[in-house]
Amino acid sequence: MTAPGIVPQGESGSAELSALRAQFPIIAGHPELAYLDSAATAQKPQAVLDAVQAYLTTTNANAGRGTYTWANRTTALVEETRDRVKGFLGDPDPAESAVHFTSGTTEGLRAVARDWLPRLLADGDEIVVPVADHQANISPWLEARQQLSGQGVRVRVLPMPYQQASGDYDHTALASLAGPHTRFVAVTHVHHVYGGNMNIHRIREAVGPDAVICLDAAQSVGHLPVSVAELDVDFVVFSGHKAMALPGSGALWARQARGPAFAPGGWPGTPNTVGIASLHAALDWLEAAGPDRIERWTVALAARLTDRLRHLDAYEILGCRTSVAAGSPVQQRQGIVTFRHRDIDSGDLGFILFSHGFMVRSDGHCQGGAGEKADSVRVSLHVYNSMEEIDRLLSVLATLG
Ligand code: PMP
Repeated sequence: MTAPGIVPQGESGSAELSALRAQFPIIAGHPELAYLDSAATAQKPQAVLDAVQAYLTTTNANAGRGTYTWANRTTALVEETRDRVKGFLGDPDPAESAVHFTSGTTEGLRAVARDWLPRLLADGDEIVVPVADHQANISPWLEARQQLSGQGVRVRVLPMPYQQASGDYDHTALASLAGPHTRFVAVTHVHHVYGGNMNIHRIREAVGPDAVICLDAAQSVGHLPVSVAELDVDFVVFSGHKAMALPGSGALWARQARGPAFAPGGWPGTPNTVGIASLHAALDWLEAAGPDRIERWTVALAARLTDRLRHLDAYEILGCRTSVAAGSPVQQRQGIVTFRHRDIDSGDLGFILFSHGFMVRSDGHCQGGAGEKADSVRVSLHVYNSMEEIDRLLSVLATLG
């Protein structure tokens, strides 16, 4: 594997950043463009592209189905990647936990809802659903409730309370809402619109030691350290493509300590072996780069954008209006900043920004029904973005004020 360069610590245009950007062919090949949509999908380093090529040209076979070398190597790769996921998540008890490969976060959350949740719940139980989070972390739980209700098992849905001004969960309101029948809580680690780190420790405090917590880590794995030794959660679900692996790959980690053991339902079929190979390489790359250093850099980029944008009167920043820390109700704004222009429609703003070379996301961001009622523009960052891109973006936004 190619060792990643040192992650830049703040100097715009530094040699370290150039070396790092050079590892991403699509970024290095388009210096006139700024990719600011990594929350939708992340770009891939050469090491991941090489691993895909190497797998397909030296090993490609089905997993768990043959006795010849390529098949055995593929089976071993799948098992090694399971261990890699556990290692990457800082799993303190890998002998007890399970990793199930999925096509992404949507499928992972659905697998928990479809294959596991109905085995946990009994008549009269409650589940907490984060109704202003990504739709992928809402629909599966409502569908599970519907399915149970058809079997005569009534489950109450408690909508997760939010603090309007910050886009964070309201932990105090959650604590008074949750009771002894609250068995399951679906939460998100980093909100895909508001960008806040949702402070999972406070969720555990609010719901008590027995409730199962399922963490949608789509926007945190690969962006900041995600340690299941520190976070007392039961499931961690993420997408490979947002963590620099190929689309169609992803993982569901299950601690197997509360409630029944997770086992995927139905016949599994052929796993996405190429995606799994890419996930292994991506996690290697991210670990060598250091999730803590990636976090420091993307937080610094987002802080610059947030703190300057809020002084431009034409813009409204969604969620917490400050970047972070002191006095902020949000534990920490990560590399996601979402905003609207007072007069310019968000779709039009997206087109205008692209005419200047900026690729951003503009629409409703698949947010659940209790979320924002109007569209917005989202800038989402990764380790390959530069301060210079942020400053150029700010100058263009200022001319539209
Ligand atoms: N949850 C969150 C927080 C997300 O941001 C996304 C993707 N935008 C998803 C779930 C769904 O991920 P995927 O489309 O990769 O399944």
